[in-house]
Amino acid sequence: MEQKRVYLDCAATMPMTEAAISAYVECARSGWGNASGLYQTGRQAKARLEKARREMAGCMGVLPEEIYFTSGGSESDNWAVKGVMARYRPGEAHLVTTAVEHPALLNACAFLEKQGYDVTYVLPDHFGRVAPEDVIAAIRPQTRLISVMAANNEVGTLEPVAEIASAARARGILMHTDAVQAIGLFPALAKETGADLMSLSAHKFGGPKGCGALYVRKGVRPEPLIHGGEQERGFRASTENVPACAAMAAAFKEAAQNAERNAALLARLRQVLLDAVLQEVPDAVLNGDPVRHLPGHLHFSVPGVQDEALIPLLDLNGVEASAGSACTAGSYVESHVLRAMGLDGGLLRSSLRLTFSPKLSEEDALYAARVIGRTAARLRAAAL
Ligand SMILES: *Cc1c(COP(=O)(O)O)cnc(C)c1O
Repeated sequence: MEQKRVYLDCAATMPMTEAAISAYVECARSGWGNASGLYQTGRQAKARLEKARREMAGCMGVLPEEIYFTSGGSESDNWAVKGVMARYRPGEAHLVTTAVEHPALLNACAFLEKQGYDVTYVLPDHFGRVAPEDVIAAIRPQTRLISVMAANNEVGTLEPVAEIASAARARGILMHTDAVQAIGLFPALAKETGADLMSLSAHKFGGPKGCGALYVRKGVRPEPLIHGGEQERGFRASTENVPACAAMAAAFKEAAQNAERNAALLARLRQVLLDAVLQEVPDAVLNGDPVRHLPGHLHFSVPGVQDEALIPLLDLNGVEASAGSACTAGSYVESHVLRAMGLDGGLLRSSLRLTFSPKLSEEDALYAARVIGRTAARLRAAAL
């Protein structure tokens, strides 16, 4: 009998949806031209690209010219912070961000610091939530940009982006948000929060990997990150990956149309999975904000169980999950998010992140919880 496989790592990536695959294949066949080409094949590709842009903008309630296609969330994050700060001289510009951002954002900030820019990293509360007052308190006369993620990829906490964006606007400061984890469920986030720049990644909502977008409010002008040809109105060089953009737009349309229904389905599944895990592992600690969290996201600390040991054993038993932070084989890096949240030292290396799609069956959720319970018990017994 083939072993059951339960995929619980949707925050790392999602399978492409059928609509996205169809759009990709159709476009790879008939829209393969260079969108800059001054002949029919080029015009066809260009038309397909602009259709994708209109579709994305339509779902977000923004203007098509406010959408720039990129190679993914990491590039969008890098472009937003480096592109805005590059408009000012080092030593004359300050950036406020948080200690719980994605590595793409944090490492871009570390680079900026090396260039001489000042960066403040605001700490979150124990739930991973940043207080708008703390962000506002970090503002200086030279603050040019505030970057706060919409939803945390490790613990799933939603951040008060709308409040922070309006505080930024009142002070004439630009606001960027990494909305990679949130946008599939909250497609109107740019409009609703009033952020000036917003990062998106296709593979976190059923599109292809290596494709994303940066929303840039009309009138805001970050310096380009990738210099070269005149693609993306001269702001992002490189021949456009039209099939990937078409597939991203197809996946986004689907996600946006079903956002409310998906959120309700996820919330129900989350409760089922949460109850089942707590029944199997009663001392598991749920991390993240108890109320303001992504609906398809669970993050636990499992006391006395090392995630380095747990994750591969779960995989052996058909359950695919992650610790949530970037740990690569051989070099274990403690989660900067959990550390910033002030988690007890003993719990820092006992993470289990379960993130799922609305397609997860209740049966598979219960199966996963049983495997988690059995595996945790085995590891604890072995440690005695
Ligand atoms: C996945 C992710 C990214 C990076 O996106 P890529 O398209 O994989 O580069 C950035 N920010 C957050 C919050 C993410 O979850």
